[in-house]
Amino acid sequence: MKCPYCNARTKVTNSRSHNNDYSVWRRRQCKSCNAIWSTDEQITLDTSHKVVRSDNHLEPFSRDVLFISIFESLAHRNDRLTASTALINTVIDQVLSLKSAEVPISKLVVLVGETLNRFDKVAASVYKAKYSLNN
Ligand SMILES: [Zn+2]
Repeated sequence: MKCPYCNARTKVTNSRSHNNDYSVWRRRQCKSCNAIWSTDEQITLDTSHKVVRSDNHLEPFSRDVLFISIFESLAHRNDRLTASTALINTVIDQVLSLKSAEVPISKLVVLVGETLNRFDKVAASVYKAKYSLNN
């Protein structure tokens, strides 16, 4: 990775797994200007996982689509951006713990609904009204 300030080569000075073991945090330092910053290596879910739609059509798992669905459900909150970021990480940990490369959309909707319900009942209601397949 190049330095974002001077484009010189960089080195990793520290590294550790996150609690979930599905991502790696690294501290980097520029070999030229000595600037320091960190990077976060995560699974690119659209290359590793597919969502099984109700008609059995497979589509790449989209972190962005999942984020938007959660973010929209939190419209009543002042902390919706930070809350959405934390909640999507919780949901993705749950998806990865399924140990299956294909995730039925119905299962994903249940995971998001349950996660939202533990955090904010209003958000869970908003989400379920829009996405629940059983309503
Ligand atoms: Zn530099």
